[in-house]
Amino acid sequence: MTCSEFLELLDEVLDNKLDAAVRADMEKHLYRCTNCEVVLNATKKTIEIYRCNEVYEMPDELRTKLHDRIMEKCKKTKIGEEAEAAE
Ligand SMILES: [Zn+2]
Repeated sequence: MTCSEFLELLDEVLDNKLDAAVRADMEKHLYRCTNCEVVLNATKKTIEIYRCNEVYEMPDELRTKLHDRIMEKCKKTKIGEEAEAAE
């Protein structure tokens, strides 16, 4: 699984829509990729904040920002590529 694949699945993770196999794949990616782990945690925190304000949808703008940030980091550190190569 690559970082972009992981990020595409992020919505479903937060909605608990994933089946066990996909979730296991994501956990494997998280184990190797700190960047995605950080993004996942940040996203969960953000969702909590929004829920407190009774807004359930994450704004597209925020999602794009998170996505850009993680992809930038992955490119810089090459962690994403290493994780992909290890699959
Ligand atoms: Zn990643």
